[in-house]
Amino acid sequence: MSIAIAIDGPAGAGKSSLSKEVARELSFIYVDTGALYRTIGLAASRKGISMDDKDGIVSLLDEIEVKLAFNDEGTQIVLLNGEDVSGYIRTPQASMYASAVSAIPEVRAFLLDLQRNMAKNDNVIMDGRDIGTVVLPNAKIKIFLTASAEKRAMRRYKENIEKGIDVSYEDVLKDVNERDYNDSHRAIAPLKPAEDSITVDTSDYDFEGSKNLLLKVIRERM
Ligand code: C5P
Repeated sequence: MSIAIAIDGPAGAGKSSLSKEVARELSFIYVDTGALYRTIGLAASRKGISMDDKDGIVSLLDEIEVKLAFNDEGTQIVLLNGEDVSGYIRTPQASMYASAVSAIPEVRAFLLDLQRNMAKNDNVIMDGRDIGTVVLPNAKIKIFLTASAEKRAMRRYKENIEKGIDVSYEDVLKDVNERDYNDSHRAIAPLKPAEDSITVDTSDYDFEGSKNLLLKVIRERM
């Protein structure tokens, strides 16, 4: 039986970078489910479909195929109709689109089997918003990874600067707050800790400290 570790939490808590590192340490496969919602958001924005055009987004699902794959370094890539779009899904625009499309039940249903299949045969660390509650309710370990909105915004702001993306801290904080609100108030699969999850707050830790904390919590339960 393969082992699944679910890591949920708000945007910018360090889920992706920490999960990736922890997966490496444990020799698990890391699956970033946010990339899937971002890819559907990208597809919609490329087609000129507005963020609140639910019907337009739902009919787009008939035209697209989304797949997860891994490159030679073992890093996850995401394919939109066969094209590797991993480089296009990290912009603030793609984030807002991802948040909007993720509130549509048909979009969530469209991505469900794809996510579950990833955990069928391999040991995975899967990160997202509803992994412990909806996607993998039987995951062996469920973590709710969080940090204050200000800390999360500051981390994302620094990441953007490093990548040469020119945005202000205030805009990033606004984006974080807006996405938190959308993610936790949507009717379907809202962001909330699974009942049997362990909350890990990384506000007072740097990356190394957060990684060690997370590894400790996981190893104690494996
Ligand atoms: O994790 P990331 O910031 O890349 O996710 C992008 C967006 O996708 C989030 O704002 C969230 O609305 C959505 N998402 C989701 N369920 C997941 C993963 C991401 O709704 N499992």
